[in-house]
Amino acid sequence: MKVIVAGGGIGGMTFALSLLDAGCRDVEVFESAPVIKELGVGINVLPHAARELTELGLLNDLSAVGIPTEELVYYSKHGQRIWREPRGLAAGYRWPQFSVHRGELLGLLHRALVSRLEGRPIHTGRHLVAFGERSPGRVWAEFADSAGGGAPERIEGDLLVGCDGIHSVVRQTLYPNEGPPKWNGITMWRGTTVGKPYLSGRTMIMAGHFHRRIVVYPISKRLEDRGQALINWVGEFKTADDQAMPPRQDWQTTTTVDEAVEPFRSYTFDFLDVPTMIRRAEAIYKYPMVDRDPLPTWNFGRITLLGDAAHPMYPVGSNGASQAIIDARVLARELVLRPTIEAAITAYDAQRRPATAEVVRANRGVGPEQCMEIVEERAPDGFSNLDAIIAPQELTAISERYRRIAGFDPETLNTRPSLSVR
Ligand SMILES: Cc1cc2nc3c(=O)[nH]c(=O)nc-3n(C[C@H](O)[C@H](O)[C@H](O)COP(=O)(O)OP(=O)(O)OC[C@H]3O[C@@H](n4cnc5c(N)ncnc54)[C@H](O)[C@@H]3O)c2cc1C
Repeated sequence: MKVIVAGGGIGGMTFALSLLDAGCRDVEVFESAPVIKELGVGINVLPHAARELTELGLLNDLSAVGIPTEELVYYSKHGQRIWREPRGLAAGYRWPQFSVHRGELLGLLHRALVSRLEGRPIHTGRHLVAFGERSPGRVWAEFADSAGGGAPERIEGDLLVGCDGIHSVVRQTLYPNEGPPKWNGITMWRGTTVGKPYLSGRTMIMAGHFHRRIVVYPISKRLEDRGQALINWVGEFKTADDQAMPPRQDWQTTTTVDEAVEPFRSYTFDFLDVPTMIRRAEAIYKYPMVDRDPLPTWNFGRITLLGDAAHPMYPVGSNGASQAIIDARVLARELVLRPTIEAAITAYDAQRRPATAEVVRANRGVGPEQCMEIVEERAPDGFSNLDAIIAPQELTAISERYRRIAGFDPETLNTRPSLSVR
């Protein structure tokens, strides 16, 4: 079975590694970018995805770069604590949660893939432009040279998997009337700032509410070892409904410090001075908060979708990369265990599409950050007794519900069988 992977991001790399691990060696990855650059800012690998990377033999690599997050604390816009929950090993999972630089995560997946391909290349600078199915049961895909030279190269195989991100060509071709991603009116500014460790040194915090929220977590083990922190932050602000969408989601648009600081001027807390942190960032990226509606099927016989191409979601609950990693593991497993490719794609679609659709919808409904919304609604000027605003049981129920939906309830994860085929 020859598998063509379009897109060498986190999903595509993990999928190729999972196929190799399961004994399927005929896999070719085609990536638009001319070189695999370690781009991005912070990302979370939740315990269910950390389990999968552990089973791929990558736990040591991940531990060398990422921070094993110990707790998540929610605050109001006044810096008043609403909820604290342990995360990763501290929460009883058998696997840690890692907060890591996206580029470093991609880098370690890339190095592992290069080594496990044993001399066979990852095809960089190859942008998928067209594909189709040629009976009986063969697919073809055409890749243009990203530098613009020559006619597209045609590759044939038994399966094409679109791992080509939020602006997926595969998805656009299969669903030509879908249009661009949907914006919810929230602009996000993201950056990293070198600073002093705050709170436990391994704490992720969220402060404010859905329309004016800051999310902060440290992401570098190397800086931690030097007594510092590489602090990843995301500021989210809902602009007026009649405003145009910021530049399209391209992950690389930068903006000015003043623009990013403005919505968070008052967020000066005793545990973290947000405006100063933003001012000290190296670069500030600007993105619209977008997703897409869940699809009716990913099953196109010998063509399917994975990761952001299949289910782009709001970055609420830190789930985007983790869900792509799980997709990759499930699809590789099904391809190796089912009698036909068609049966594997049907099984993959049945398991992963409804599960990820539920996460997309939960994230639209504010996900686990609902407790911040409730406090903002009921006590916009602050509170002296939190229990009078929101009952402890209500807080516990919100957190547990999201874990179940996103598939990282500790007991379920700790006891479910492995997805490895070996
Ligand atoms: C440059 C970049 C920076 C990012 N930074 C962050 C971040 O800081 N924080 C965060 O939470 N998420 C970030 N993301 C998104 C995050 O990586 C994904 O949400 C998640 O990891 C799911 O991974 P994915 O592999 O499905 O998609 P992606 O990681 O988006 O990977 C898709 C890959 O496909 C390639 N590609 C696109 N079109 C084609 C084509 N036609 N042919 C061949 N290859 C193609 C892209 O270059 C990319 O490498 C970033 C994505 C990118 C591409």
